[in-house]
Amino acid sequence: MKRRLQDVIRERTLLGDGAMGTQLMLSGLEQGNCGEAWNLTHPDRVLAIQRRYVEAGSDCLITNTFGGSRIMLTRHSSADDVVGINAAAVRIAREAFGDRDGYVIGDMGPFGGLMEPYGDFTETQVRDAFNEQAQALVDAGADAIIIETQTGLEELGLGIIAAREAGAACVIGSMAYDVTLDGSTFRTMMGIDPERAAAFMEEQGADIVALNCGTGMDMERARQAVLRYKETTSLPVMAQPNAGLPKLINLKVVYDETPDQMVTGVVPLLDTGVNILGGCCGSSPDHIRAFRQAMDRYQKGKEIS
Ligand SMILES: [Zn+2]
Repeated sequence: MKRRLQDVIRERTLLGDGAMGTQLMLSGLEQGNCGEAWNLTHPDRVLAIQRRYVEAGSDCLITNTFGGSRIMLTRHSSADDVVGINAAAVRIAREAFGDRDGYVIGDMGPFGGLMEPYGDFTETQVRDAFNEQAQALVDAGADAIIIETQTGLEELGLGIIAAREAGAACVIGSMAYDVTLDGSTFRTMMGIDPERAAAFMEEQGADIVALNCGTGMDMERARQAVLRYKETTSLPVMAQPNAGLPKLINLKVVYDETPDQMVTGVVPLLDTGVNILGGCCGSSPDHIRAFRQAMDRYQKGKEIS
């Protein structure tokens, strides 16, 4: 049987992948259209993106299912395809690895709204949507599930429980932090700090605690978040920072940190003992290739010394 992701990463840091959304846009997806539907309509293009990440050196691929819950897909009139879209995504990621060993992490993003009493969605609706997506990902053979870009504990908890109930071999909870205006620290939009998030995720039965995306969360901020996680929990930690800060250029949000710039943050992050390192918005196969080289050098250096 395949070794569980949370066990393997205690011995060796694994490399994740980079952004999917920006890569889909580069492949012709128009803003506002449903990238997840491409798992059925343009599987070759999704496969090509994930192959580039494997060629760059990714050990883990995150499925193209960020917006693959029933609530999100309903907005694109694709609610009938929830299971099909999620199952296809797992197959595509597996195919992208080819003969290589790799971990397929099923992606679950936010449901995209607010729950009662602040919003229109009942807890039951959200729970049902997460259960359905998690089950589809696990049934299709995902090695793990990541509940990512989370800002509040309530939704995060529903996602973690859904993944566990679906029988996921590994459950990852991942928070999106924003750097505060004065730049002194970071917390989620809902005011959750890394210590509180890590304690909560451990309590809910997550196997790995993570951070991704957020505002201003570059490699250095990710390093600080990993350290704060590590002080709070003994669970393994995953980090997927953005490629620098977003800038508005020609009405488009652009992340302009180059692979050369971003890679300078790899060794400091590895020094924290981070267990999986990848990239979020703006990161590309070129960023991941640079990470791979830096990680391999780091590993070699440790073996020699
Ligand atoms: Zn992101």
